[in-house]
Amino acid sequence: MIYIKAPAGLHGYAVVMDTVNCRSRDMLTSPKPIAIAAPPAALAFEEALLRKLNQPGPRYTSYPTADRFSEQFDAQAYCQAVSERRAMGARHALSLYLHIPFCDTVCYYCACNKVVSKNLGKAAVYLTYLQREIAMQAALFDGMNQVEQLHFGGGTPTYLSDRQMSELMAHLHRHFQFASDQLGEYSIEVDPRTVTPKRIVTLRRQGFNRLSLGVQDFNPAVQKAVNRIQAEEDTLRIIDAARFAGFRSVSIDLIYGLPKQSLASIAQTLEKVIAASPDRIAIYNYAHMPHLFKPQRRIADSDLPAPAVKIDMLFLCIQRLTEAGYVYIGMDHFAKPDDDLAIAQRQGRLHRNFQGYSTHAESDLVACGVSAISAVGASYSQNEKTLEAYYRRLDLQQLPIARGIKLNMDDLLRRLIIQHLMCHFELSLASIEIAYPVRFAEYFAAELTQLRLLEADGLLTLDQEWISVTMKGRLLIRNICMVFDRYLDPHRTPLRYSKTI
Ligand code: SF4
Repeated sequence: MIYIKAPAGLHGYAVVMDTVNCRSRDMLTSPKPIAIAAPPAALAFEEALLRKLNQPGPRYTSYPTADRFSEQFDAQAYCQAVSERRAMGARHALSLYLHIPFCDTVCYYCACNKVVSKNLGKAAVYLTYLQREIAMQAALFDGMNQVEQLHFGGGTPTYLSDRQMSELMAHLHRHFQFASDQLGEYSIEVDPRTVTPKRIVTLRRQGFNRLSLGVQDFNPAVQKAVNRIQAEEDTLRIIDAARFAGFRSVSIDLIYGLPKQSLASIAQTLEKVIAASPDRIAIYNYAHMPHLFKPQRRIADSDLPAPAVKIDMLFLCIQRLTEAGYVYIGMDHFAKPDDDLAIAQRQGRLHRNFQGYSTHAESDLVACGVSAISAVGASYSQNEKTLEAYYRRLDLQQLPIARGIKLNMDDLLRRLIIQHLMCHFELSLASIEIAYPVRFAEYFAAELTQLRLLEADGLLTLDQEWISVTMKGRLLIRNICMVFDRYLDPHRTPLRYSKTI
């Protein structure tokens, strides 16, 4: 591989020739070298600034973050949160999440709560318990059980057989009232290695209308390094099948920062993804935390790209995908301009939850399955994390809630600010003063001082009325949101969080 390094301070590269991939199938389908432009000066990060900003920090799929949940918040507290919702008159349809934790093999980068097993009997047992939990939740939401959003995640939801999936969907429809196919968003994460085109047609018939495919990277060396060998043609065949079956939206998940990945390999993967033309693309930042996630111990530190290269990778993704017509929604998501996510962002309805960005800002999220996290009213709650504990609680006829949190006014206010910055990259200070009984400049005096430092670093601009995140700041939006997180202890290194770059 031959790179020409951009001038000092600009972490950009131009790929002249990729001698490794010249011999690979990648280059047979994409024979021309791909030119990678350096980021413009406005987006350049100096080494010292990168070092300073590359700190561990939350991804803010919730605020407060899950490590703040406590066992004092139990099933009874959850029922109380649902009652309060009922008393207020639940005006919005629910969002349902189902966690299927099983996987056939382990990917070395994985940080999910999963059970790796080839024993399909385990899934049959799990489904009997999951159905029990669904029935209990439905009884709790009786009379306000309309659903407009359903998401199957994992693990690998397609670990379930056709028959098991049909039974589970029928059970859900017996207990909840689903909006029509036109109105509702019913999505499933699909591992292309586990399905055939015929299976995709069946999933559509079973009621799913959105599909997200785990790809991560098309490069064979990267796939080998993460133990996820997935033929490019199989993935493309599944995308074609999804279109043929009438899925409304197809999304592709990629990861940057994986072992053996380079700007050149990412560039080639991007070209292939753009050619496949999915409606949404999610590009996650690989968080290497082997002290927390055992499979990651199989990844050698020396194979990982440096932080400066990672930020160039993110920049490259933003540049290529926006050139190709995608809208940069934020942090890790891109969508075609006519996709619901892009429309929701334009209309100020975008929201961030445990599945990333979402269009249903007002919906309560009811999550079923081991380790699943619900968000109902001003509360979060998480189910038991092991199958044994999850089964034990359900055997006792209890909701399997292990921990959670009830948000106070300060939490709600900070959640609103963090959500808004994550979704819209700007914040009207007056809008906060209208929504909450605070004077922004006084209540957040300490935060404004910290924001001014980030302003000096070029991540945002600050005036009497607005916080506006710059393009450079969008790449590091977590650093900006961390300023408003009152639970972060600046004197302690939070080992549970991934680095922001
Ligand atoms: S990344 Fe997904 S498919 Fe791979 S082990 Fe983790 S949950 Fe399973």
